Amino acid sequence: MVDRALDSTRSYAEDTDSAVESEASNGTMLNGTMLKAVGFAAKHSFSNLKRFEFERAPAQANEVELEILFCGVCHSDIHQVKNEWSNTVYPCLPGHEIVGRITRAGSAVSKHRVGDIVGVGCMIDSCGACGPCLAGDQNYCEGPNSWLATYNGPMVPAAKAPGEVNSYGRDNTYGGYSNNLVVKESFLLKIPASLRPEVAAPILCAGATTYSPLKHWGVKAGQKVGIVGFGGLGHLACKLAKAMGAQVTVFTHSKEKLEEAGQFGIAAVLEKDKDALEPLKSSFDFILSTIPQKHDINPYIELLKRDCTLCVVGALEPLEPVNNMQVAFHRKQIAGSLIGNLADTQEVLDFCAKHGIGPDIELINIEEVNDAYDKVEKGDVRFRYVINMASLQPV
Ligand code: NDP
Repeated sequence: MVDRALDSTRSYAEDTDSAVESEASNGTMLNGTMLKAVGFAAKHSFSNLKRFEFERAPAQANEVELEILFCGVCHSDIHQVKNEWSNTVYPCLPGHEIVGRITRAGSAVSKHRVGDIVGVGCMIDSCGACGPCLAGDQNYCEGPNSWLATYNGPMVPAAKAPGEVNSYGRDNTYGGYSNNLVVKESFLLKIPASLRPEVAAPILCAGATTYSPLKHWGVKAGQKVGIVGFGGLGHLACKLAKAMGAQVTVFTHSKEKLEEAGQFGIAAVLEKDKDALEPLKSSFDFILSTIPQKHDINPYIELLKRDCTLCVVGALEPLEPVNNMQVAFHRKQIAGSLIGNLADTQEVLDFCAKHGIGPDIELINIEEVNDAYDKVEKGDVRFRYVINMASLQPV
């Protein structure tokens, strides 16, 4: 029986600035059965991602070991690396849009085989016993540590859990900017054969996070849907809503994206263009905001029809105050949504395969990841960076 507390976990007392960190140098971690692993991690909120060597506990009976092939770069990775949500556990080795090949399967694994190409999104475990988990909503797990994130450990760390319980036996987890991963079979997603693995990767977070609210709020053919922010999540949301048959308008703060949206067959409006917004008032059935920072949602509330919903998935922080006059007078709803559950994540992969859609990606090598972060923050990516993990030098 492997002690899970050893996997992806260490106390981070030393403070050197060497390019290569090695968890294996901690003698207590060395164990013949451990998997050698390497990835790119940040030591502090102000440090770049650098090569980092560590070990993972090998697969137990219900787990598989993956060779990671591709990993998407989500804006959440940047928030997390920079501790912008004040919850980062360092070293921080991000990556939750993972596609890999199974290299070993535990004895109880029944749905997947060695050689299968599979996906891993934001979660690698949940309590499995609370109301949301039993309802299939692992992403809203109400267990003492909530769900176990693919990186950065449990959503509710032991220090904040009732009785300081540590039900997953670890404080940190290391994600997909690495060569391998060990995951429970039940948290694997099947990658449809018609989706290229590198294109499938961003669907595991960006796709699930946007598909889940579109589905939850019942977006249908013929409805008018607004997407705020034409970035990684936003451009995929536009494609998904369009494939659902909706009439889609994207709101952007980038002039150059007006024309680019046209190439997607999507109407686009500059978010500050009051003349363009005026005729759109009270006309939208659903609006999804993907802006990564505090922003003013009041102009978008005005665009909703009566009884309709504006859902914010971008900024996970306080927003500008809402004018409830706008909300109450037309019984509108302001909502949020967190990633997608496993079923929705599989559904969006299958939906993309069926409709022949997927994210527009730019493949990068792992050494380019720090530069890629700068470009994402400046809005220079079209539309999702995906790291080709073959570029990672072996351990
Ligand atoms: P991107 O950076 O790829 O896209 C964000 C887009 O928002 C930009 O392209 C830009 O589009 C627009 N934008 C408007 N104002 C700003 C600003 N001040 N700075 C930067 N962009 C701005 O990010 P992602 O799509 O990867 O992620 C979006 C947000 O969603 C992030 O905050 C991420 O953490 C969050 N997220 C939330 C999840 C959830 O479960 N709720 C899950 C995954 C991500 P334009 O140029 O068109 O204006």
